[in-house]
Amino acid sequence: MANSTRDYYSVLGVPRDASPEEIKKSYRQVAMQYHPDRNPGDKEAEERFKEAAEAYEVLRDPEKRRLYDRYGKEGVSSTGFTGFRDFSDIFHAFSDIFGDVFGFGGPSGPQPQAGNDLRYDLSLDFMDAALGTEVTLEVPRVANCRTCGGNGAKPGTRKIPCTQCGGRGVISRTHGIFQITTTCPRCQGLKEFISEPCPACRGEGRVREKKKLKVKIPPGMDSGTHLVMSGEGNDGVFGGPPGDLYIILQVKPHERFRRDGYDLHLQAPVSFPQAALGARIAIPLLSGSKEIVIPPGTQPGEIIRLKGEGVPYPKGSRRGDLLVEVRVAVPRQLTPKQEEFLQEWLKEEGGEQAAAGVKSAATADAPEEGFLKKIWHTWINPK
Ligand SMILES: [Zn+2]
Ligand SMILES: [Zn+2]
Repeated sequence: MANSTRDYYSVLGVPRDASPEEIKKSYRQVAMQYHPDRNPGDKEAEERFKEAAEAYEVLRDPEKRRLYDRYGKEGVSSTGFTGFRDFSDIFHAFSDIFGDVFGFGGPSGPQPQAGNDLRYDLSLDFMDAALGTEVTLEVPRVANCRTCGGNGAKPGTRKIPCTQCGGRGVISRTHGIFQITTTCPRCQGLKEFISEPCPACRGEGRVREKKKLKVKIPPGMDSGTHLVMSGEGNDGVFGGPPGDLYIILQVKPHERFRRDGYDLHLQAPVSFPQAALGARIAIPLLSGSKEIVIPPGTQPGEIIRLKGEGVPYPKGSRRGDLLVEVRVAVPRQLTPKQEEFLQEWLKEEGGEQAAAGVKSAATADAPEEGFLKKIWHTWINPK
């Protein structure tokens, strides 16, 4: 027995001679208006929705419609038609209109998507990377529009259900015994269109922005280090979580220090007498400077290791070492007195002549005065 007490034609709002196309179109409109998804908990809408389904079920079928026209609802119930028990019956019966056969809600529309991860290349000075610093970044990112909350509609305006899919977001068609459900090509599964676009995002729901971010750079950073800032990537879509921001560090070289992990390398030039006699020299540190002892007899290339004067580790109080490489500098120019000392020294080691030969060949130039000139001639014109 049919449930509705109203005339089927007036339920659907069509004339008695309406074509099957008109009936279908009207039913679709009425069904969307009273669709349970759109009127949750509304008993009146629920009744209207069921009533319209019943009317459509009768009027779309030529035989039932003929019986109804002639005998009213009594005539239809003689065919065994009893109306619909529940919503899923209705969706199942009219899947061409509702777009799916899976009962009440069907596919719930666009799925949440996580926002994209972003990459930011950050160039740091050597000292800032080694000791840590704080920087302010301006990160270009895509955010959900704050004016419309990301839905693209001007605040206070309504959305219009997509007419192609009847607001379901999907289209179903029958292919043999299979029901093929695809995303609605018109609304792309969004189910509805905006009537007036949000002025802030021009209806896109998304805006490009530059977000200022204060970032603490821990000590001990080196080139290629990635810092991940959770949730600072692009905003997600349809309620999805935001992506992450990857800050990729590039550290500029230092003119004196070189890094090897957490150890630092430094070259310290000392004079030959300093290396030979031993000395105290001042060397730079990451912060400040320090006097170190060059022991007597230090050889070129010898390394003096200063424990704990290297680069701090990112966590904890540990630090690498500072390795000072001793470079013995040979003077390019000598004062006459220095020259005299060195000549004396050579004499001490093994003779005047050998010393002169090395000196002259190295300069390839005749010395101008003093006893050196004499030696030069001695060497050029050996007796
Ligand atoms: Zn907007
Ligand atoms: Zn659609």
